[in-house]
Amino acid sequence: MSNDKTNHQFPTSSLQAISTPFYYYDMDVLHETLDVIKQQIEGFPFKIHYALKANGNYRIISEIAQGGIGADLVSGGEIQAACNAGFKPQEMTYSGVGKTDWEIRLGLDKEIGCFNVESVPELEVINALAGEMEKTAHIALRINPNIDAHTHKYITTGTAENKFGIAIEDLETIVNQAIALPHIDLRGLHFHIGSQITSMQPYVMLCETVNRIHDRMESLGIHFPMLNMGGGLGIDYSDPDGHQIPDFKQYFDVFKRHLKLRPGQVVHFELGRSIVGQCGSLVCRTIFVKENHNKKFVILDAGMTDLIRPALYQAHHEIQNLTSRDTAIDTYDIVGPVCESSDVFALNCCLPVTRRGDLIAIRSAGAYGESMSSTYNMRSLPYSIFSDHLQV
Ligand SMILES: *Cc1c(COP(=O)(O)O)cnc(C)c1O
Repeated sequence: MSNDKTNHQFPTSSLQAISTPFYYYDMDVLHETLDVIKQQIEGFPFKIHYALKANGNYRIISEIAQGGIGADLVSGGEIQAACNAGFKPQEMTYSGVGKTDWEIRLGLDKEIGCFNVESVPELEVINALAGEMEKTAHIALRINPNIDAHTHKYITTGTAENKFGIAIEDLETIVNQAIALPHIDLRGLHFHIGSQITSMQPYVMLCETVNRIHDRMESLGIHFPMLNMGGGLGIDYSDPDGHQIPDFKQYFDVFKRHLKLRPGQVVHFELGRSIVGQCGSLVCRTIFVKENHNKKFVILDAGMTDLIRPALYQAHHEIQNLTSRDTAIDTYDIVGPVCESSDVFALNCCLPVTRRGDLIAIRSAGAYGESMSSTYNMRSLPYSIFSDHLQV
């Protein structure tokens, strides 16, 4: 949280001229992240799909599309946005437990690469709609591998008690059902165990589970051209400058070492947070500094409507004062202006002495920040500023 460090990260004087709050995206960080991913998968039959729900900002997704990455989508709106941003439909996968008819039809009409199917009723509806449209739907079955990713309960998706995927016990029956359906082309199996996963252990367990399922399927004479390992790689929220780029080497090495691939098989990954998390910061101003019962509050012009993660998951984000010249440090609760007690960004946060008007950056906000913003309290949606558009 040292103040001299911030001045290297942010073009503070340019940002100071802009009215707050806004998302500031460092496009160099985004491009470096995409380059590292490309290096790590080179020579392996790995294909990356970016999970648009992490950040659907048009500029961000257009850059990612140009980087030769596919798109992982969870709604009809995202299918449309991905098409507009230049992703190729064959490189789109579509997940979600509740795909409606119009969304399925849109996916079929665009001839997207893969529907990740989460239940038997969904399988039957996709088959019927594909039949009406005289199309064949490429699908993968999403399996719930019952692996605890040891992350926050709201972002764990691969354990038995949550709503996602098909139970392993039912897999064989459903695979046979899928194979028998005339408008379904079963391409592979899909897994996604959760988000903000920082230990590689759950991924090793995932590989072992997939190998077991795979062996069993093969013994039944069923072959899959594709396996989808989902996403979920975490980022370092406590040290965004020290770990600007997630450890993709460690992550992909797990799959290179532990996943048993058959000849010709392709592995898909659906990364969201790890691609865009560190390139974005929420930049805002201090409206007031007030004191109550010996507690000092910094009240910002950004709130939970701009960045809901702290209120929703008790998530930690580093907070920096970009303009204070003070060397003295004080302790503050950092809060937003929204009329909810949960509108808190940080408790007991140490900052250089902070005053009305100081510019504040909330770091690591590129993923699930802007995309989860709302207009609650009739506030405006935050807008976005890109590092390469600024005149520095
Ligand atoms: C959200 C989601 C992802 C991306 O998760 P990250 O943690 O952002 O990498 C990937 N696949 C599916 C099915 C998802 O729902």
